[in-house]
Amino acid sequence: MKKISIIIPMYNEEEVAKTSYLRIKKVMEALNQYDYEMLLIDDGSSDHTMDLLTQIAKENPKVKVLSFARNFGHQSAVTAGIQYATGDAVIIIDADLQDPPELLPEMIALWEQGNEVIYGQRKARKGESAFKLLTAKMFYRTLNALSDVEIPKDTGDFRLVDRKVIDVVNAMPEHNKFLRGLFSWVGFRQKAYLYERQERYAGKTKYPFKKMWKLASDGIISFSTKPLKIVGGLGILTIILSIGILVYSLISYLFNLNQLTPGWTSIMVAITLFSGVQLLSIWIISEYIARIYDETRNRPEYIIAKKINFE
Ligand code: UDP
Ligand code: MG
Repeated sequence: MKKISIIIPMYNEEEVAKTSYLRIKKVMEALNQYDYEMLLIDDGSSDHTMDLLTQIAKENPKVKVLSFARNFGHQSAVTAGIQYATGDAVIIIDADLQDPPELLPEMIALWEQGNEVIYGQRKARKGESAFKLLTAKMFYRTLNALSDVEIPKDTGDFRLVDRKVIDVVNAMPEHNKFLRGLFSWVGFRQKAYLYERQERYAGKTKYPFKKMWKLASDGIISFSTKPLKIVGGLGILTIILSIGILVYSLISYLFNLNQLTPGWTSIMVAITLFSGVQLLSIWIISEYIARIYDETRNRPEYIIAKKINFE
């Protein structure tokens, strides 16, 4: 009997945890030709999520719970999930029921046809703020313009992944993983599964702007070095510009063209422009250095405080 692992990251999801579990369980029990396990990851919730998960795990031995020592973020929670999953296929799904569990049988059928990564791609997004839609669109545009691999747009982490691919991704030592990018980068037989993203069942988004920014910069930095090349381009551009200014002022001086110049404006423009460009460049470079630093420290990506239903 093939086994399917379902990974559900949860951060302060007391309003949806139980409903989400019940809906997924119903779908999986109807698929009785498969065995399943559910990996619920409590990403350092400060509400009653963990109490609910403990209770769920007590009722159902197929439910395994990992509880983090603090909030490590969505990508770390999913990373832990794929490392602990034992199934022949792994499904990653959000806790908030925006990705309907009722679609899982169709994804599993696509897997049985030989596809190795079936990623959910959103046809429509219901109930999301204009801000979220705009930033998401900008992000996928920028990412694809910059990165060397094609990362399908409008995809989140909702996907079914074959054991082969999971093993490949688990063997990668990198931190700050941008999982949806990695799952696309590895290749294998990829298949888009179009669906309509629903509204959040209850509760609020756990992705404030700060976390979105971190995800976006991880995505760009781990899949592209083009920003560093842009820094080089900016440098060359400003050098050309300053040579231009030099030539202009020499000509003005030699031919007495520009009597009234006290020099203040040009100096100020040059100083502010060039220091702006320099600071911007240093910032971009330091983003990469920060990631290198993070990799070399080699700290764990998450810390597990408690495990339930693991032997
Ligand atoms: N999540 C998490 N850790 C975090 C933030 C979010 O495990 O630090 C989980 C969250 O519980 C949910 C999923 O990641 O299951 C997606 O989060 P959310 O639905 O809030 O994001 P959105 O759909 O608004 O982008
Ligand atoms: Mg959501």
